[in-house]
Formats: sequence, C-alpha cells, structure tokens
Amino acid sequence: MMTHPVTLIPGDGIGPEVADATARAVEASGASVEWDRVEAGLHALAEYGQLLPDDVFASLEATGVGLKGPTATPIAGGHQSINVALRKKLGLYTNFRPVRMLAGLRTRFHDLPLDIAIFRENTEDLYSGLEHEVVPGVVESLKIITRNASLRIARAAFAYARRERRHKVTAIHKANIMKLSDGLFLRCCRETAAEFPEIEYQELIVDNACMQLVMRPETFDVLVMPNLYGDIISDLAAGLVGGLGIVPGANLGDRHAVFEAVHGTAPDIAGKGLANPTALMQSAVLMLAHLNEREAAERLQSAIERVYAEGKHLTGDVGGKAGTAEFTDAVIRTMDAR
Ligand code: ATP
Repeated sequence: MMTHPVTLIPGDGIGPEVADATARAVEASGASVEWDRVEAGLHALAEYGQLLPDDVFASLEATGVGLKGPTATPIAGGHQSINVALRKKLGLYTNFRPVRMLAGLRTRFHDLPLDIAIFRENTEDLYSGLEHEVVPGVVESLKIITRNASLRIARAAFAYARRERRHKVTAIHKANIMKLSDGLFLRCCRETAAEFPEIEYQELIVDNACMQLVMRPETFDVLVMPNLYGDIISDLAAGLVGGLGIVPGANLGDRHAVFEAVHGTAPDIAGKGLANPTALMQSAVLMLAHLNEREAAERLQSAIERVYAEGKHLTGDVGGKAGTAEFTDAVIRTMDAR
C-alpha cells in the first residue's frame, strides 16, 4: 500500500478538534497517510512570532497536499490573512466547494436534492489586500480582476462540468455596476463557455443570485464567480444544506492542493468538544480522491452519510445532541462494520 505524506495544519479555535477527529477518520478509511503536523495561526504567532511560519511552506512544498483547519487572523492588526497568503504563495487559484444535501438531515430545504458546485476565484478581487488612505477620512480598496485569473477559474468550472457530466454553469457578477472589472470576468466566462458548447451557460447578478438560491436552489448546478461573491455565496449555500458544519472545500493549484472546510474558527464553541467535524471530514474525502484513494474516499463518505441517515449521533449545529468525539466514533464504527 502506498503511504501519502500530507501536511496537517490544525489551526485555531475549533480547528484542532475537527482536525484530530478528521485525522482519526482518515486513518480508519483504509488509506495510508503520514501526517506532517505544522502550526499556523494564533498558536504559531504566540510560539514562533509568525502567523504563517516558513516550515508550513516547506512542508507543503514537500508533500504537495494539505489538510487545514480554520485559522484566525488578528483583525486590523496589519497581518495578512493566512488563507490569502497561502493561496497566493502556492498559486491555489481554484476554490472548489461542493454543496450537497446529506440524506437524513432535517433542514428547511431537506426535501430538495441539492448538489451545487461552487468555483470561487481564490487569488485576487478585493482580496488583493491593496488598501490605502487617500486623505484622512478616505480609504481606497482596490478590486483587481485579471484576464488570466478569470480564464483559469472559468476553465476549472467548465472542465469540472464536462468531467462530471453536469449540465449548466452560472457565472455570478455585478457587471451592471462594476462594468470594467466584473465585465472582464464575464467576458472570460463567455469565451470559455464557447469552448464547451454542450454545457448550458447562464449569467446572474449577485443580488438576484442570492434570492434565486433561496427561492429555487434546486435549479443551480455549477457556479463560478470572483473571490468576494464566492465567500458570501458559499456561506449562503452552506445554510441551505445544514450550515457551516457541513460544507467541504478544496484550494487547488497546478502543483499543490489544500483541503479545508468553509467555516471559520467558531470561537463561540471552541474547546468545548461540540464542533461538527463533518465539513473537514468531507474535505478529507475530496483529499483522498485527489490522492487517488478512491475506495477510502468512498468508504469515508458513505460512513458519514449513513451516520446522518441514522440520525442518532449528530452534533448540536444540525439538531443532534452528540459532541465531536461521539459523532467521530460513530463514523469510524460504521467504516469498521463494513
Ligand atoms: P470566518 O470569518 O473566520 O470565515 P465565519 O464567519 O465563517 O468565520 P465561523 O467562525 O465559521 O464564522 O462561525 C459562524 C457560526 O457557525 C458560529 O456560530 C459557529 O459556532 C458556527 N459553526 C461554524 N463551524 C461550525 C462547526 N464545524 N460546527 C458547529 N458549528 C459551527
């Protein structure tokens, strides 16, 4: 059996709890993974004086694959967000977030078979971190949109749609107001759409997209958008399928992949053993598939789905009474029972 070296970044807040739970679940999935555990975030800042120490990059350079818990960035302290720094430095230009309804989960939309794939551009837009004070009392934040990055994310979305036999790609924008920047993004999506004639292409203004996602979420298939709309739409879409505790994510570049849930550090429940590790576990399923460990990926995913279908060991955020450990034990028992 092949052993895969993987960089494990537990992170802050609920990060270490969901990362430990997920590492246990991956080990029980049948895949052989060797974790290289490195610290980033507030822990690292306290211990090494750096939010994102160099050994994180050294490890990811060696392994090429990371599993990451959420990390906190001190607000307004002059620190660049860890996620933004990682994505830029490693060229992780695609943020992929598959939003699926887990059978058995009671949400407001549980009777709808939701399966929405979100492709969020990960390196530019208002996340470029280019802000300055023009004169006292006036600040400027630069929204950067480039043809290269827009074509790259559009191609990733359409290539996924073709590979997975999905039927429609929707580009989300505000080009009626930001005519140059979002206008360029849309032109790149249109150009790409022309290379994939079998896939239906649609455009929606972001405010309308929010309303349609709540009123008719089942009509959405693959979504592609710039960075900021992607951040907001991801949380909205997570709300449709049970919240932030559920939705996984992958940051993908040409040479590296870092798998990470959509949620943040959830300081309100950190350290209490209450966090739902499903989002990071489903991110680990994406990671196992990326490592070509198809059987282990399928085993972990179907165990998660069976624990939800049974409904007896779910965490508080999705209406259950279990803690992180009880849910994780149930997933591992289900895999072992097969
Ligand atoms: P950030 O600003 O860091 O991206 P966020 O705005 O996405 O963070 P979170 O820290 O993820 O916010 O938390 C939002 C809410 O969702 C909180 O009430 C938190 O407790 C809940 N939440 C987030 N993740 C989980 C989880 N894995 N399990 C249970 N509850 C969660």
